[in-house]
Amino acid sequence: MEMMKGLVAYPTGDLKLEEVKVPVLGENPYAPHDVLIEVQYCGICGSDIHRWHADKTGVQSVPRKVVAGHEIVGVVKETGKEVTSVNPGDRVVCEIVTNFCGHCPACREGRYNICNTIPAMEGRAHFTTGGGFAKYTVWPEWQLHKLPDNVSSLEAVLMEPTAGSIHSVITRMGIKAGESVAILGPGARGILLMQICKAIGAGPILMTGLERDVPFRLARAKDLGADYIINAEKEDVRSRIAEITGGIGVDAVLENSGSVEPIKESLDIVRKGGKVLWAGGGIRGGVIAPVDTSKIIVKEIDVKGEISQIPYDWYTAIQFAQTGRVNLHPLVTHVFSLDNWREGFELASTSSEALRVALQP
Ligand SMILES: [Zn+2]
Ligand SMILES: [Zn+2]
Repeated sequence: MEMMKGLVAYPTGDLKLEEVKVPVLGENPYAPHDVLIEVQYCGICGSDIHRWHADKTGVQSVPRKVVAGHEIVGVVKETGKEVTSVNPGDRVVCEIVTNFCGHCPACREGRYNICNTIPAMEGRAHFTTGGGFAKYTVWPEWQLHKLPDNVSSLEAVLMEPTAGSIHSVITRMGIKAGESVAILGPGARGILLMQICKAIGAGPILMTGLERDVPFRLARAKDLGADYIINAEKEDVRSRIAEITGGIGVDAVLENSGSVEPIKESLDIVRKGGKVLWAGGGIRGGVIAPVDTSKIIVKEIDVKGEISQIPYDWYTAIQFAQTGRVNLHPLVTHVFSLDNWREGFELASTSSEALRVALQP
């Protein structure tokens, strides 16, 4: 049995770098359509960090010990008996919704990400058979996408969050050209959301952040196309947005902070009849915010959630990256070896100069 180093997530929230088995073709639920991938890079997502952090109040942890990491870029090493869509040597990214029943009401609508019969974490390879914080991972061929030649492997660690952002902006929110959008939270995901709004012709686009975000994250957001930058610690977000929109409010709000105040704020800054997405916090949970329901009722606000992606989001993400409609390169700010994972996680969770940090197994 061949062994490798893997960064293993425990149900307690702990992460440990330990010896794990190299996955073997034929010995997993995807066989004979299984693909062995040699991981080039795997991004550290906010959800990975929150699960590992000291304060885990309300945070949902992995159901079993498993190699973590879901923002995976790699090269096909070996293919299972009946694999036809990829070949050894192909550079690929991994769609994360891999296990779904295919016949429940949600699956019948093509919404495999919220399969009605499989719990969220059981629906994803990185919580079941293992993710990309190891030299090798195994994936079903149907959930692999070949990378275009002009998209580098390093920038492609952001393909999963890009697909997720397309899921938020287009699939869930149906944001249209000309609509005004406020994006709360200027992390890599916030800046991706902004670029996608821009790419489809929405605007003006406003981004909020904290004082610590001003020199780097908000500056980068501005460089990449945000129309207005608001420092929530220096300016009053509600009155600033009222001022920009002539007292009406924005057409759409994308909350991506996972904090309580922006969730409350979202209902005040959206216009009557507008749309709000609450996305910060993601699958980990643990964000409890009091909500004045009358605001939703009286303003007839559409409040939505989002999780992962559907195949459309992935094809669109790859097309946007290939044609330069989104610029991923400036958002991957640091790379660490798997051995130095702790340093990478610390940096990703504390530095205001980090956007996406990737590990290289
Ligand atoms: Zn993620
Ligand atoms: Zn289903």
